[in-house]
Amino acid sequence: VSVFADVVQAPEDPILGVTVAFNKDPCPMKVNLGVGAYRTEEGKPLVLNVVRRAEQMLVNDSSRVKEYLPITGLADFNKMSAKLIFGNDSPAIQEKRVTTVQCLSGTGSLRVGAEFLARHYQQRTIYIPQPTWGNHPKVFALSGLFVKTYRYYDPATRGLNFQGLVEDLSSAPSGAVVLLHACAHNPTGVDPTVEQWEQIRQLMRSKALLPFFDSAYQGFASGNLDADAQPVRLFAADGGELLAAQSYAKNMGLYGERVGALSIVCKTADVAAKVESQLKLVIRPMYSSPPIHGASIVATILKDSEMYNEWTIELKAMADRIISMRHQLFEALRERGTPGDWTHIVKQIGMFTFTGLNTEQVAFMTKEYHIYMTSDGRISMAGLSSKTVPLLADAIHAAVT
Ligand code: PLP
Repeated sequence: VSVFADVVQAPEDPILGVTVAFNKDPCPMKVNLGVGAYRTEEGKPLVLNVVRRAEQMLVNDSSRVKEYLPITGLADFNKMSAKLIFGNDSPAIQEKRVTTVQCLSGTGSLRVGAEFLARHYQQRTIYIPQPTWGNHPKVFALSGLFVKTYRYYDPATRGLNFQGLVEDLSSAPSGAVVLLHACAHNPTGVDPTVEQWEQIRQLMRSKALLPFFDSAYQGFASGNLDADAQPVRLFAADGGELLAAQSYAKNMGLYGERVGALSIVCKTADVAAKVESQLKLVIRPMYSSPPIHGASIVATILKDSEMYNEWTIELKAMADRIISMRHQLFEALRERGTPGDWTHIVKQIGMFTFTGLNTEQVAFMTKEYHIYMTSDGRISMAGLSSKTVPLLADAIHAAVT
């Protein structure tokens, strides 16, 4: 008998479990709108041309070796990643107040940041939006932080509950960490306006709340990398401190390469250097050092202005296709006379639409129409195509009538 005989079967991950169920379904007409991964009009995963080109250059360069990277990762990658999120002429970077370390995509960056906070930051409570990406509470709790939520989404308007957000952050204890989605909030697709961001900034700074930005979709929301980084830059510009986790999974399509970065903006260069020394102590016993291939792709593209431009064009095309899917789905529901207000489909931002469909309606659509999505009614617009929009519209129509 196994020494592990008493181990109980764990439930599937609520998001990745959708794909497991999808893969088991033999129906040829099935559609997977669960996982947040970009698909082409043909429903295929996409490797960007500029990524293929960068990889080719790396392969052809025989001087490249497979030595270990430093604990903090590839130096060029870290430098360029900080510029990408904080801006080319960021004073914080120029003043050497930013430490950036390469981590395992967005999740790993959040985890390293959280582990650092649990060890070196007094106020170990983190406020996360309600709702948020399903992995957030687990990452932060397992790192040793105390997780609380702040109101974010209003089901009645399918928009931002700004008043609730302000009330909850106002009553948070001074110094608490606040997780903010930099843009394209997952799962709601609802972002504050620039004016609201400014009010959030003033409130947070007045209460010494520490911002921890999760930037998993820079460029995916508007199609413009600078516009999508605006909220982060607003906070960095006031000279205050913050953390930012970046992922290249979506915006460069590097999902499985696991490329990301954690930046901590500090008050002084001296503090930033000490913080970096402690980040190394977090990383070393966890995975020693990060992988080299994906970060080399990113650094190659970010360092070369011509490749960078090619990337922005390909990124914009992905964002535009998603926006076009929003319009097509909205039109298809209008044509069917589907009851209800569906304007949120075109108003929401980024990869996901938070449809407002409930668990029973989602289960019905999966059973009768072989459409797979998370049970909270979130659909990945990037998984849709002109071919599958009518099927989804039929399913939604049947589910609500
Ligand atoms: N944060 C948010 C809000 C996300 O939606 C995701 C991915 O779905 C991530 C972080 C992390 O993704 P990854 O670890 O693949 O970069």
